[in-house]
Amino acid sequence: MALVSLTDVTKSYPPADRSGAPVVAVDAVSLDIEPGDVYGIIGYSGAGKSTLVRLINALEPATSGSITFDGRELTAMPERELRGVRLGIGMIFQQFNLFTSKTVWKNVAYPLTVAGWTKSEIRLRVDEMLEFVGLTDKANSYPEQLSGGQKQRVGIARALATSPRLLLADEATSALDPETTQEVLALLKRVNREFGVTIVVITHEMDVIQSIATKVAVMDGGRVIENGDVFDVFSDP
Ligand code: ADP
Ligand code: ADP
Repeated sequence: MALVSLTDVTKSYPPADRSGAPVVAVDAVSLDIEPGDVYGIIGYSGAGKSTLVRLINALEPATSGSITFDGRELTAMPERELRGVRLGIGMIFQQFNLFTSKTVWKNVAYPLTVAGWTKSEIRLRVDEMLEFVGLTDKANSYPEQLSGGQKQRVGIARALATSPRLLLADEATSALDPETTQEVLALLKRVNREFGVTIVVITHEMDVIQSIATKVAVMDGGRVIENGDVFDVFSDP
């Protein structure tokens, strides 16, 4: 069974002004993300990638169509249950979105505190996550004292602390130089292989897809214009 399944999903926003037409940000998209996939979603700015992420993450309702997470229909789910689904999804971002006034340690501890873990459980888990991303020696640093790559590693540790099944990476390497990008992608590959976490990688960069994704959907104008195994989609016809 697919971990995430979209069937004929459309998301439209009201017109910007009275005379305008509605903005169709995601247009009749169907795709299946299987457990263990590293699924790339590529497209130019405005293609609908971020909107698609917000739909998968249940941050916004679809206008029409069906979205399931682990076989459960999101479109009709009450808010309380949606919150539970969101806890099973980790996210990392282009601008890292770390708490600048919290130490690295506290950033990683934060979702565990929200989820109600005990102090001793939190201590063990944060130390384990910092070791995994190689930042044990930065536990008491603040985000502004870190490089971009280190900040994203904190983002990854924080996103994975609660053991989500799905990690959504929204342009997560777009603010990084090419070498750091490859380091972060290598870490994400380990996350996929060692923890079995399914990863969705949203990007406008072909290199990122080629480095990490096994499957890809190409978006343009809100539609998925092509999808399948990376090798098939990008090999010459
Ligand atoms: P991408 O992430 O690929 O750059 P987006 O999903 O951000 O694309 O945007 C797709 C289209 O939907 C764009 O035309 C954008 O202007 C529009 N859009 C996105 N979010 C909103 C919103 N909240 N309200 C109105 N229009 C939106
Ligand atoms: P508060 O935020 O309540 O003033 P602290 O920031 O000192 O307290 O830490 C709160 C908890 O977080 C403590 O119980 C401590 O065990 C844990 N903690 C904070 N930083 C670290 C760290 N670098 N290594 C291990 N545990 C830490």
